[in-house]
Amino acid sequence: MNIILLGAPGGGKGTQSEFLCEKNGFVQLSTGDLFRSNIMNKTSLGTEAQKYMDQGLYVPDTITNGMVQEFLKTKSDGLIFDGYPRTAEQASALDEMLEALQGSIDKVIYFEIDAAILMDRLTGRLICQTCKRSYHIKNRPPLVEGVCDYDHSRLIVRPDDAPDKVRTRLMVYQEQTAPLVDFYKDKLIKIDANNKTPVELYQDLVKVLAI
Ligand code: AMP
Ligand code: ZN
Repeated sequence: MNIILLGAPGGGKGTQSEFLCEKNGFVQLSTGDLFRSNIMNKTSLGTEAQKYMDQGLYVPDTITNGMVQEFLKTKSDGLIFDGYPRTAEQASALDEMLEALQGSIDKVIYFEIDAAILMDRLTGRLICQTCKRSYHIKNRPPLVEGVCDYDHSRLIVRPDDAPDKVRTRLMVYQEQTAPLVDFYKDKLIKIDANNKTPVELYQDLVKVLAI
């Protein structure tokens, strides 16, 4: 089974894919994480992607789709797509790539959440450099300030979580990604993600996915 987690940045996609991988054996395909590891390893793909990411803009489809194609060579089932696809062009490309591998998307989960909550979540977010788990200064603080509970690595603020970058990202999401709700209308399951703890949201997910 392949699942897409769709929704605005800060809606809880990353945390829920963490849970689905840990508890249900899925593997996460996060294009954001793949770009960030390319940046950290100073690859040419990373250098190119960073130009866009630093501005809160989307990396061009050809680069993004190419990176996903490489990933799918290693695994094409049991995946949680987190932050991909984000444009109509990417959604069509993904259908084609999976079809070539006799695969498909089974379900698309759409996290509905108010814009005001997103701003607060993203600007208070902390990320572990090693395991990529996310925390929040107020809502989900680590046990020890600035340190990951799991591997004790340092937590950082993502450069694109600065308030002006977040505003751009939310605007780009509305323009380019929100229309995918229509593209996936036959597979779409909406979940109200407002005022829910990560665990409550996970319980909703388990129910609708019947896993
Ligand atoms: P994320 O970690 O999913 O919030 O992604 C961080 C940034 O990486 C985004 O703001 C984009 O600049 C870039 N990015 C990640 N996934 C995609 C994608 N599917 N298409 C284009 N750009 C992406
Ligand atoms: Zn960690």
